[in-house]
Amino acid sequence: MSKFIFIAGPCSVESEEQIISIAQELKKIGVDYLRGGAFKPRTNPDSFQGLGDTGIDYLIKAKQITGLPIITELMSIEQVRKYIDKIDIVQIGSRNMYNYELLKELGKYSKPVLLKRGLSATYDEWINAARYINNGKVILCERGIRSFDNSTRNVLDIQAIPFIKENTDYKIFVDPSHAAGNRYMIKPMSLASFAAGCDGLMIEVSDKPDESISDSKQTIDLEEFKKIVQEVRTFSKH
Ligand code: PEP
Ligand code: MN
Repeated sequence: MSKFIFIAGPCSVESEEQIISIAQELKKIGVDYLRGGAFKPRTNPDSFQGLGDTGIDYLIKAKQITGLPIITELMSIEQVRKYIDKIDIVQIGSRNMYNYELLKELGKYSKPVLLKRGLSATYDEWINAARYINNGKVILCERGIRSFDNSTRNVLDIQAIPFIKENTDYKIFVDPSHAAGNRYMIKPMSLASFAAGCDGLMIEVSDKPDESISDSKQTIDLEEFKKIVQEVRTFSKH
C-alpha cells in the first residue's frame, strides 16, 4: 500500500513571508507537498488574480528553504513550458479540465499532474480528460460538484472515490476545501474521504485563515490541520 499523501497550503501565494512561514509550519506537521496558487482562475475578474510569476518565485523559495516539494496550478501552454521543470506536481484546475490543448501539452512531459474534476463533469468526461494527458502520472482530484442546493459551495462526491478505484488505475485525491467552502466541514469530509479509500488529500491551510485574500471561509488553521493529519495517520497504522 502506498503512503497516504497530504498536500496543504494557502489558496493563494500572497507574499514571500506568508508562503515561507506557512511552509515551515506545515513541514513540522509532516505535510508531503506545499500548495499555493500563483495563477488564480477567479470567477470574478475583479477578484485577486494571484501574484503570477512572482508567486511562483516565492513558492520555489519556500521549497528551497523547507525542502517541501511544490504543487501549483498552471493555466496555459506557455506557463507549462516555462515552469514544468521547476514544480513537482502541475495542478490543472476545474475550469481547465476541458482544455484539451493544455492537457495534450502536459502529455509531452513525465511530470505528475493533479487533474481536478470539472465543476459539473461526469466521471466519463473526467476520465477522458485524464486520457488526453496520458503520461502515466495523472492523479485525479475530486473537488466537489455543483448541486441544486447552494447552502454550501459545492457537494463533495464521495462516490467518486470507489468509482475511480473500481473502474480505472488512477490515483484519486480529494480536495474538501473547494467542495465544502466552510471550515467546519473540512475535518469530517477529510476523514470520510480517507475512510472511503482516497489516496491523498489537498487542503487549504494558513497560519492566519481570517486574513486570507482568497477562500478565507474554507481555509483552516494549522491546529485544525494537524488534528486531521494525526487522526488519519493513527487510522493508517491499524
Ligand atoms: C484551487 O485548488 O486553487 C482551485 C482553484 O480549485 P478548483 O480548480 O477546484 O476550483
Ligand atoms: Mn482556493
